[in-house]
Amino acid sequence: MNCPTCRKKIEAEEASCPRCGTEVDDLRALSAKAGAMRAEAAALLQDGQALEALKLFYKADRLCSTAASRQGIAAALLASGHFRAALKYHFRARAKR
Ligand SMILES: [Zn+2]
Repeated sequence: MNCPTCRKKIEAEEASCPRCGTEVDDLRALSAKAGAMRAEAAALLQDGQALEALKLFYKADRLCSTAASRQGIAAALLASGHFRAALKYHFRARAKR
């Protein structure tokens, strides 16, 4: 991951940024939690539970917004028939990271 303060690359075993000292353990934990939520949401989506998947993808995106969470939101919106909103999230997912 990169430091949220100075953008320096931080290795997995480091608890803080070697350049500026920002603590990153809590961020790593949040990122892992969001990743688990995205995986659970993807399983719900594959199971045909688009609205439940959408809620969980939104929750994961609020916790840690990534291209993967925005793509998940787009897919769940598409699966639940919200085409215009799906397109908006699809382009957001492509625009950042
Ligand atoms: Zn830093």
